[in-house]
Amino acid sequence: MSSRKDLVSLSLQELELLAGELGLEHYRARQISQWIFQKRARDIGSMTNLSKDMRMRLEAVAFISSFAPERIDSSKDGSKKYLFRTTDGFGLESVLIPETGHITLCLSTQIGCAMGCRFCHTGRDGLVRNLTAAEIVNQVRAIMEAEPFGEAMPNLVFMGMGEPLANYDITVRAIRTLLSPWGFNFSHRRITVSTAGLVPQMKRLGEDVPVNLAISLNASNDETRSRLMPVNKKYPLRDLLAAARQFPLAARKRITFEYILIKGLNDAAANARELAGLLKGIPCKINLIPFNEHPAVDFKKPDERSVRAFQKILHDLNFTAPIRHSKGSDIAAACGQLGAVLHSPQ
Ligand code: SF4
Repeated sequence: MSSRKDLVSLSLQELELLAGELGLEHYRARQISQWIFQKRARDIGSMTNLSKDMRMRLEAVAFISSFAPERIDSSKDGSKKYLFRTTDGFGLESVLIPETGHITLCLSTQIGCAMGCRFCHTGRDGLVRNLTAAEIVNQVRAIMEAEPFGEAMPNLVFMGMGEPLANYDITVRAIRTLLSPWGFNFSHRRITVSTAGLVPQMKRLGEDVPVNLAISLNASNDETRSRLMPVNKKYPLRDLLAAARQFPLAARKRITFEYILIKGLNDAAANARELAGLLKGIPCKINLIPFNEHPAVDFKKPDERSVRAFQKILHDLNFTAPIRHSKGSDIAAACGQLGAVLHSPQ
């Protein structure tokens, strides 16, 4: 393992410190960050506004990591799944999802996942390891390089492999790089972090970075939720929804609740009414996601009629509740399908 620093993982302040240690002027740190995050340089040698001597000094102590897609699978619905390989040989996946008027990138934060949600493939073998901040940021760098986005910035959702808030410090570090003017300069409106419900970290997130919050809810009562998501035994609905109510929301922002509809388990009219009761008073949107069937799990997708009936109850009670058919199911890129075969080093 190289003892040189990976420049992609450093904040501007850390780049300034490094520049100081190398005897470079303070403003050089901003030039370096521009090369990495705006011009997406892959090596220090290409930083042509630094002298050759400066580049050599920097190269002696630092490098720029990057990802090249090992495979890109394209779905017939337009979404694409990118497979990247870490230096220690693990595969990780990110998904590009075209939607009306914008593009969304779904990012991973861990190899595997320890949360054990019953409907999800990613966590099937538990957690392998956390991603580094550079590995999170490099998913964005690589896809923005590969895709003709032009001036349009994509939306970023932390909903890929792993529970982002279980890799809290690293995820927040990566988000700061994505939000900062010296980094990618994304608007905070474009970034959404999804959680299965790690209550203490939700509280911290609201204080640390001004991003949107999505909560993977999937049940209208503790009994069903604990059956689907073991995290609910530790942080039951009462605690989770109290944290959601306290989450600081900027004007016009809403919390997104993801609700995977599973036939015969959480899709009854009574569940819809119970759900409405739970979420009453929280500025929110409820994404209804009919379950994506896959062989490893016994759950079934509900029929279209019961999905519509569920939605109507929520609409009649004044909730926004779009039905989201998970994209990319033909390339195993849909919700809960990522990382199914990628957890071991080559
Ligand atoms: Fe982890 Fe998310 Fe899968 Fe749950 S749904 S096991 S939190 S990756």
